[in-house]
Amino acid sequence: MYNFEYQRPQSVADAAKAISGKEDAKLLAGGMTLIPTLKQRLAKPTDLVDLGRVAELRGIKRDGNALVIGAMTRHVEVATSDAVKTAIPALAQLAEMIGDPQVRNRGTIGGSIANNDPAADYPAALLGLNATVVTNKRKIAADDFFKGMFETALGADEIITAVSFPTAEKAGYEKFRNPASRYAIVGVFVARTGGQARVAVTGAGPVVFRQKDMEAALNKSWSADAVAAIKQSANGLNSDIHASAEYRAHLVTVMAKRAVAKAG
Ligand SMILES: Cc1cc2nc3c(=O)[nH]c(=O)nc-3n(C[C@H](O)[C@H](O)[C@H](O)COP(=O)(O)OP(=O)(O)OC[C@H]3O[C@@H](n4cnc5c(N)ncnc54)[C@H](O)[C@@H]3O)c2cc1C
Repeated sequence: MYNFEYQRPQSVADAAKAISGKEDAKLLAGGMTLIPTLKQRLAKPTDLVDLGRVAELRGIKRDGNALVIGAMTRHVEVATSDAVKTAIPALAQLAEMIGDPQVRNRGTIGGSIANNDPAADYPAALLGLNATVVTNKRKIAADDFFKGMFETALGADEIITAVSFPTAEKAGYEKFRNPASRYAIVGVFVARTGGQARVAVTGAGPVVFRQKDMEAALNKSWSADAVAAIKQSANGLNSDIHASAEYRAHLVTVMAKRAVAKAG
């Protein structure tokens, strides 16, 4: 039996009130992860606070040199947005690669990064583009947001309201996907923003990370050849039925090369 209070606030302020002081309250975005978790009885919230009617959490807008995407913006909206395609085409391409049409039509950027699945795509974009996570309480740099497997810097009663992405001079994303779920076995997001290269790797380890040897090489020469000889250590990488740590390490270089080539 499910046993929780279901609430559907209309504003971030009301959503914050609904979860305030309640340790076992849960925010509901598209439900793509949370609903299966409830069904398997892996989560038993006392309160389920549905963000679906909070209009201020939706939408994509340009703000100077940044692209600001509301937390409840669905993957399909990012994939098809002209503003995203113009400002950061690699981000639209990444959203298009997530899951299947059902997942893209329900899943949200806020839910994806709050969940911080080690194989999710958006964490690579946030870290690669040096994005900022905006919550109802503060701003958190991507470098400080993704803490560990399914773990973020978010407090228990903190709500992601948006993600702010600086527009990059160059950006590209490539992933080697799991053929069943389409999650990344390894995904690499490369970007050059303000003349500085960043390389973010998802899927390979317990949490998204930066490949700093590749960043240094790309700062000297932005080309696929610059990263081709750089080997990722397999130490600490994930190993499972889909791919060994060594195979994932190999894929990091292959995906990085392809991502740089794609970024142009
Ligand atoms: C079959 C399948 C395939 C998938 N394939 C991929 C893939 O290829 N790549 C990929 O990246 N992802 C993939 N996903 C994940 C998907 O993209 C969703 O983004 C993810 O499941 C989160 O779903 P959601 O946005 O509906 O959030 P929910 O499931 O509603 O919530 C997830 C978690 O985030 C919390 N949360 C939600 N919104 C906020 C907020 N604004 N502030 C704070 N906390 C919040 C919730 O409380 C919950 O703990 C896949 C999912 C499925 C089911």
